[in-house]
Amino acid sequence: MFNALVVEKDEESGKTSAVVKEISDADLPEGNVTVAVEYSTVNYKDGLCIGPGGGLVRSYPHVPGIDFAGTVEASQDDRYKPGDKVVLTGWRVGEVHWGGYAQKARVNADWLVPLPMGLDTRQAMAVGTAGFTAMLAVMALEDHGIKDGPVLVTGAAGGVGSVATAILANLGHEVAGVTGRPETADYLKSLGATQIVAREEINETTKRPLEAETWGGCVDAVGGEMLARALGQIKYGGSVAAVGLAGGAGLPATVIPFLLRGVNLLGIDSVMQPYENRLRAWERIAKDLPMDKLEAMIQPATLADLPGLGADILKGQVKGRVVVDVN
Ligand code: NDP
Repeated sequence: MFNALVVEKDEESGKTSAVVKEISDADLPEGNVTVAVEYSTVNYKDGLCIGPGGGLVRSYPHVPGIDFAGTVEASQDDRYKPGDKVVLTGWRVGEVHWGGYAQKARVNADWLVPLPMGLDTRQAMAVGTAGFTAMLAVMALEDHGIKDGPVLVTGAAGGVGSVATAILANLGHEVAGVTGRPETADYLKSLGATQIVAREEINETTKRPLEAETWGGCVDAVGGEMLARALGQIKYGGSVAAVGLAGGAGLPATVIPFLLRGVNLLGIDSVMQPYENRLRAWERIAKDLPMDKLEAMIQPATLADLPGLGADILKGQVKGRVVVDVN
């Protein structure tokens, strides 16, 4: 028997509730690798899956946790053997398949990657899906050329934003962090942000499709009006990596920045990334994300803290990265 955060649904009221309880190996879903989970984390999607489901969870009871890192306990796949350290993000684990909020997880070997050299399992989950996605966004910007001038990072004090800020600063870029929490300014500067932009400065609709060319690129975790404004402020030929929708799924924009300034809007998906690109992103994380800055982002937690943290992240109240020690 081992501990898991199990979400159950009351069929009559339709309400879900999440509690830590004991489950057994026999309860685990099908898969060819069983992992002794060491750490998991809390991403925005986890907030949905711990709570009302957000249309992501198909059946109950459910064990959420969209990512985890740990040690292989048993494997029927040649690529992994007991004792191997592994990381999992994406593939709808924690949504349609049971996830990392348990002391054990059983998954498909195709979904795993070996723990990257230079990271331990705790650091890998301090990065987690949010940080992995931030790296994918930076790589996409690089592939299209980052222009001179500050790179805008929206939702900067959140998970994606914090990691993007630290990586971009370490790569030598000026970083302008947009935050709705002015009290996080010192934190963002400690990660390497050179400029703090108040959320309300860039969150309002403007009737002008083009504004002053200000940013050399943008990692956007917010979407909605903020993404639309950012598109109109990017320098000629620059790019915006669209990662998230913390502020809304709409895009009240015009095509003018694409047509008159050759601006690129780059879509970033972490869930279905091919294996080779996952390896490339994790290698870049180990090389380009300073571990002291990663440490400064960490808020430790246990399985019992998850219901509260899930609610907090949906309200945009989690700073940096939560690392859940499931043991
Ligand atoms: P967090 O909650 O940690 O960060 C989101 C941040 O956005 C908040 O901290 C806050 O930053 C800002 N924010 C929240 N609400 C609003 C609002 N209404 N208007 C403007 N800004 C707001 O979440 P994550 O970093 O884990 O994820 C960020 C987004 O990226 C989510 O939408 C998530 O679903 C998405 N995502 C997408 C992935 C992909 O594969 N494409 C993978 C991982 C995440 P501040 O307080 O600094 O303003």
